[in-house]
Amino acid sequence: MKTAITGGAGFIGSHLVEHLLAAGDTVTVLDDLSTGRLENLRTVIGHRDFHFVEGTILDRAAVDKVVAGADRVFHLAAAVGVNLIVEHPLESLRTNIHGTEVVLDAVLESGATLLLASTSEIYGKNTSDSLSEESDRILGSALKSRWTYAAAKGIDEAFAHAYWRQFGLPVAIVRLFNTVGPRQTGRYGMVVPRLVKQALAGEPLTVYGDGHQTRCFSYVGDIVPAITKISEEKSAYGNAYNLGGSYEISILTLAERIVELLGSGSPITLVPYEQAYAEGYEDMRRRVPNNGKAKDLVGFDPKTTLDQIILNVAADHRPVKAPDPLGWKVTMAAN
Ligand code: UDP
Repeated sequence: MKTAITGGAGFIGSHLVEHLLAAGDTVTVLDDLSTGRLENLRTVIGHRDFHFVEGTILDRAAVDKVVAGADRVFHLAAAVGVNLIVEHPLESLRTNIHGTEVVLDAVLESGATLLLASTSEIYGKNTSDSLSEESDRILGSALKSRWTYAAAKGIDEAFAHAYWRQFGLPVAIVRLFNTVGPRQTGRYGMVVPRLVKQALAGEPLTVYGDGHQTRCFSYVGDIVPAITKISEEKSAYGNAYNLGGSYEISILTLAERIVELLGSGSPITLVPYEQAYAEGYEDMRRRVPNNGKAKDLVGFDPKTTLDQIILNVAADHRPVKAPDPLGWKVTMAAN
């Protein structure tokens, strides 16, 4: 199968590239390398079925180039990470709204199928203990940048759904809940790589607010195969699917677990939100997915434990890299 991936040099995108090459796909990536890195693609550069185009999803010609001839497209390119969103609200809005519209148009013309990566952010402040795809979205002020990200991704979903209803575009949506794993950088927010890095360096672990806010972390190695399977299901078109972890943990307990598991001597410090983030940040107290719909469709049942996730992220941060913990076993073409 011929597959195109926007944002394929990013954290999740690069794992998806490896997974699909190992399955025999020809893969073309479009990435502007703003947050993505070529280093993430080091295991596949030179592979005979891998192609890379540097460019932005705001550029229709670049999008057309990678989408041409593709059977399916994964749209992962986006401005992500709370730090990036609150510090660069305008670029984030443009990329996440206009960029997605460009991709939808290009895919519609090309005749490929599309999988749109969305986010649990769209549920906002809904603290339900089982967020389902039909759950209400509770967003804060439109003047706070954090909520403009949630709004933008909600509009992306609405655009995708309208393309499906009005033009029959075969598009499925996945909502990712705090996906973590090797290659994720803490530079743009993302608590697990940040705390792991701090623990390994013997620095204080920065827990924001009172630390009692909770999340359900999922492992990229569980998420990528599920995304792939969903992209292959005709009944997924016009639908959205939650993909998240099944274990809820507070950020304070997460920090304690990281310190213990990595044998770190680091202290844990509580940092007030106003010190931690630029203006425009507001936290979510809780975010718990109901994965039932993805389980029914593709048997989604995330197995990787939080301890294993932490150990894999730590292995990725140590100076001497361990072999790729996901082990997709991509065979390189002989050059
Ligand atoms: N967080 C923290 N310390 C950090 C980075 C983040 O305590 O160094 C908190 C953050 O305020 C939030 C949670 O960890 O409550 C998850 O943050 P992340 O940015 O990873 O994801 P999101 O907020 O999008 O769920």
